Amino acid sequence: MTKALPRTRVILTLAGILWLAHAAVIAFLGANPTGGLWSDVIQLALGGLLIYAIAQAGKASEGLPRSFWRLAAVAYGLWFIAQSLGVYSDLVTSPTALWINNMLFCFWFVPLAMALLLDPDHEAGRLDALVALDYIQAVLICVAAYVYFFYLPKAVSPGQLPHEVWAPYFVGYGLVALAFVLRALISHSQDTRRLFGRMGIFLALSGCADALFYYGPGQSLNPGAWFDLLWSGLLIIPLLIAVTWKQAEALDVALEPPRRERRAYTEIFYLLYPMLVLFMSLRIARERLGLAATLLFLSFVCFSARLLITQNRLVVAKDALRREASRDGLTGLWNHKAILEILARELLRGQRHSDAVGVIMADVDNFKLINDTRGHAAGDNVLRIISSAMAAVVRPYDSVGRYGGEEFLIVAPGCGLAETWELAERVRTHIAACSIVVGGEARVSVSLSFGIAAGESANDSEKLLHAADAALYLAKSTGRNRVEPRISRAASAGSDSAPASDKDFWL
Ligand code: GH3
Ligand code: MG
Ligand code: MG
Repeated sequence: MTKALPRTRVILTLAGILWLAHAAVIAFLGANPTGGLWSDVIQLALGGLLIYAIAQAGKASEGLPRSFWRLAAVAYGLWFIAQSLGVYSDLVTSPTALWINNMLFCFWFVPLAMALLLDPDHEAGRLDALVALDYIQAVLICVAAYVYFFYLPKAVSPGQLPHEVWAPYFVGYGLVALAFVLRALISHSQDTRRLFGRMGIFLALSGCADALFYYGPGQSLNPGAWFDLLWSGLLIIPLLIAVTWKQAEALDVALEPPRRERRAYTEIFYLLYPMLVLFMSLRIARERLGLAATLLFLSFVCFSARLLITQNRLVVAKDALRREASRDGLTGLWNHKAILEILARELLRGQRHSDAVGVIMADVDNFKLINDTRGHAAGDNVLRIISSAMAAVVRPYDSVGRYGGEEFLIVAPGCGLAETWELAERVRTHIAACSIVVGGEARVSVSLSFGIAAGESANDSEKLLHAADAALYLAKSTGRNRVEPRISRAASAGSDSAPASDKDFWL
């Protein structure tokens, strides 16, 4: 802040001095060639100062404002080239320089207008497919505008915008200024409102000055005439916006909810360029049908590709959201709600096919001790490791969910009580044999207690959970690291009550 203030003051003082110098040049030298040259040189210096101020504003910004200032720098870069060519034309008579100068003066704001397409949710500063398509639209509009404003009309001189296209030029310019103000009005972001609102008002003022030049008292004035003071004064407005710019909102961090921007309304700005290309093509088609059709076709392809990519991203985002809504954040397993839904669904299916569904409720033994001795973060890691170990050892069609803190629920379709017991026993032995090392410290011994139940009826859900919970309580109270009720496939067949040996546990 202490460094920024003097810089702002220096820039503003320099701008003030340049403007006063401009007024003095016009007063004392007037519109004679020397006056015209100095007038253009001073405006060029002001433009350079403006680009510097914009670069500083961009450096002090992030996200959408940063991209905004970058586009503004490109726009004023074009303006600067135009002005340099103007100075060159003051020294040497060159119709080509004059022609390019006039073109650039008419369209320098095209890159700035691209700011309308900036998306507050995708501002990583990278050139993604959508931004690339927007650039192609901007090139198309420049081509269409060149043909419409310069190639087809009968120009009086290469340095003049032909009279017949003055009105459409100001309509197009006005539309862009209006779009800026509109974007400011509908945005919820304070930064977007300030940037687009101020620039929109500036563009409108700049358009008014252009209109005065073409229609009003500026007509047939040469460089160095009093009208030039208006141009240099106009340069000071964006300079003021840039030097006083201070971003109010920090860039979204991952945990913050996305900013509430009225997304549907902001989408209309993507229509601005294709719409302008369409209007210009209608006129171009009268004389160059093939060219108009090509322009329209390319613009249509760009816009359709943009729509398809956006649509695809929405579908992917929707899938990711749905996935996230049913997953547990720590372990990646199904969350409480999802695993209960899976249980209900499997019971329904089981009822239809007269197939049993097994339920396994598992709880980590003495987990509090791990938290107390190794810390909560280590406890989290242990939960993650247990979860992936469980998910790896069950069958592909079993579902594992995090039922509570250190409690898990496994839904095993097609399993009666004996098969469920075997599955639980498999998980128990697998985890008890796991070598868990967290935080580079000594091995943590982890075991789980299991309560199992099995049922076939769609209405069994509550009953099954209750039975599994009661069995789990029994497993805890009878020594932990065990499956209750103790049963095996052989036992359920009535031949043996002891648990089967290890290798028999595999289903
Ligand atoms: P028992 O064998 O009787 O189940 O003993 P226990 O210590 O595992 O059970 P208790 O219910 O006393 O403690 C469970 C602990 O699990 C308490 C709680 O802080 C911890 N816990 C629950 N969720 C999480 C979690 O997401 N991360 C970590 N690190 N700890 C958790
Ligand atoms: Mg526990
Ligand atoms: Mg517990």
